[in-house]
Amino acid sequence: MKIHPPVIHPILRVAVPVPLRRLFDYLPLEAREEMLVLGMRVLVPFGRQQKVGIVVGFSEHSELPREKLKRISAILDPEPLFPPTIFQLIQWSSRYYQGAIGEVFESALPNYLRKKTSASPKTPKKTPKPVIETQDPNTLPPTPPELNTQQQQAIDTLVKYFGQFKTFLLDGVTGSGKTEVYLRVVEQALAQGKQALILVPEIGLTPQLLKRFQERFPVPIAVLNSSLTPKKRFENWEMARTGAAAIVIGTRLAVFVPLLNPGVFILDEEHDSSFKQQEGFRYHARDVMIMRASLEHCPVVLGSATPSLESLHNVTVGKFHSLKLPNRAGQGTFPTLQVLDIRHKKLEGGLSSQLIGQIKEHISNKGQVLLFLNRRGYSPVLMCFECGWVANCQNCDAKMTLHFHSKKLLCHHCEMSLPLPTACPNCNHENPKPVGVGTEKLENVLKEHFPTLNIARIDRDTTRKKGSLQTAFDRVQEGEAEILIGTQMIAKGHHLPQVTLVGILDIDHALFSTDFRSIEKMGQLITQVAGRTGRAERPGHVVLQTCHPEHPLLKKILEEGYQNFAASLLAERHSIHLPPYSHQALIRAESKQPNQALDFLASIKNALQNLSQTKPNVLHISGPIPAPMERRLGKHRAQLLLQSSERTYLQKHLGETLDRFTTHPLSSSVRWSLDVDPIDLY
Ligand code: ADP
Ligand code: ZN
Ligand code: ZN
Repeated sequence: MKIHPPVIHPILRVAVPVPLRRLFDYLPLEAREEMLVLGMRVLVPFGRQQKVGIVVGFSEHSELPREKLKRISAILDPEPLFPPTIFQLIQWSSRYYQGAIGEVFESALPNYLRKKTSASPKTPKKTPKPVIETQDPNTLPPTPPELNTQQQQAIDTLVKYFGQFKTFLLDGVTGSGKTEVYLRVVEQALAQGKQALILVPEIGLTPQLLKRFQERFPVPIAVLNSSLTPKKRFENWEMARTGAAAIVIGTRLAVFVPLLNPGVFILDEEHDSSFKQQEGFRYHARDVMIMRASLEHCPVVLGSATPSLESLHNVTVGKFHSLKLPNRAGQGTFPTLQVLDIRHKKLEGGLSSQLIGQIKEHISNKGQVLLFLNRRGYSPVLMCFECGWVANCQNCDAKMTLHFHSKKLLCHHCEMSLPLPTACPNCNHENPKPVGVGTEKLENVLKEHFPTLNIARIDRDTTRKKGSLQTAFDRVQEGEAEILIGTQMIAKGHHLPQVTLVGILDIDHALFSTDFRSIEKMGQLITQVAGRTGRAERPGHVVLQTCHPEHPLLKKILEEGYQNFAASLLAERHSIHLPPYSHQALIRAESKQPNQALDFLASIKNALQNLSQTKPNVLHISGPIPAPMERRLGKHRAQLLLQSSERTYLQKHLGETLDRFTTHPLSSSVRWSLDVDPIDLY
């Protein structure tokens, strides 16, 4: 029995890209109503603007009286852009991460389709050209290596699960042949006429992976990352959607790309925090990919030599199935590790004399040297030794970094820069002095020591130009540079067969950080950086300089390896109920006035506490407290951390509460955001 009389014209529920966690109601175009299907883009009047929204529902009535509803201005697509699975995936993501539905839909679309102009996203007239040229028939593909037993077992298991959802953790040491496993699994997917989607953490890793897939398969491969022009990205997206591309390789944003016939999902370096979107709609591409695989009934492979504690935990509780590659493939051997105690040692550009001696030795034996220092710039502090003045940023609670080559002081948090002072701004004494070492200074010191050698430096400053990262790696791979200096950019999956010595400098701060994840990241970095050596015929040696050679966790990772290190960390997290043994959400707020952000969060806390009175021990709220860097870009920042052993409970209360806070009196002067499963508490 119907309560309301039937209404002839349904009301459209539209996801409009605005930061509000709700849908907006519109009337259809009178004449073309029957053409509307869920998932189509429509142009709608919104305030004084026209916006591109997505139809996500039909309804017979609205909270607003019918005469107040506006009509949509146009239907933009002849068919929905998202297949039902992706449509569901986007809606799930918006619920799980508590994102504004319109913004979540928007972020799943390539920029080209977010615009209201060029309204019709005409499917390109001819079949789109492959992004890459298909194989030249004159160059024979390299013969694939013969698989070892573990690789074969992993592949056989994976292929058995084609057509079903299952999450696999491919836990394989650096250089164990994980990529070879991906290649073979993709080969089988292609043989069944299916597509493969492969995600990498950084744009910089696409070229080498693309090359390996191109060499192996004469099929169109589409790349999706933010370095493409909007048009190109749209074309590649269309190739994936229409099935013209058999393989899609991309960064986190590609997790939402529609595929005509998905067969397998692969996410390489699954522990990498770049898979987490840290602004706007904050999602984790790994977790979204797993949900996607379940909706599309495909196996998903997460690969890493240093799996995240979350994934290891998921193996333990039986959610993920573990596939192990414990040995290096081919001729690679594990490097030897040495801890170098640098207490009371004189350092030059961060290098002890022992390490300098070892560099000499390896170079004279025609090896290459890699030095890891995770700090760019010349020096992190500029200080006056007369009065104690240090160069601080005016906008942030941070010191300014000295950049020698560009002759400036730069804040790495707000990008503000100042010319180098020739005298102390406080006491006028001459020449304030740099304190501490960044990659730029390390390079200078090495040039003095080894004037005839070629040094490649890889950090954000040297790789701004498009393609420059690849050029630097090519130089090292081709033996043009003997020494490679780099920040964490060099720790990710690059194959550097001639490196025989790795030096790890200055990681001690991670041992004492307030962020509980920093020690996990440190262990991953050490293992990954060490893994750059000994990858071919030549054995590798790793030297780690530290002032804390007795630190138990440092000893653990160096003496027992990542696996045991991770097991100890998990035991520690378990004992203090930290993730993955509990679930967190972080609400960040910032305001111009010092107390507004804190006050705003205090009232959210209040509301949450009132709601959760029924189950007082399930939700733990800490804060509000000022953020670890309280002032940034001139704004005062605060945060509220929510933690619960029951994820659904946390989700439910958050959703209900936050909806009310969009209209809070302070919400106009406080900018705030929610981060579900935060991986960075800053
Ligand atoms: P990972 O992705 O685990 O770092 P890769 O797949 O890049 O490892 O393999 C490292 C190197 O070993 C590559 O040069 C690769 O061609 C080679 N390789 C992989 N599997 C084998 C194998 N079964 N036999 C010989 N060489 C192999
Ligand atoms: Zn001074
Ligand atoms: Zn700043």
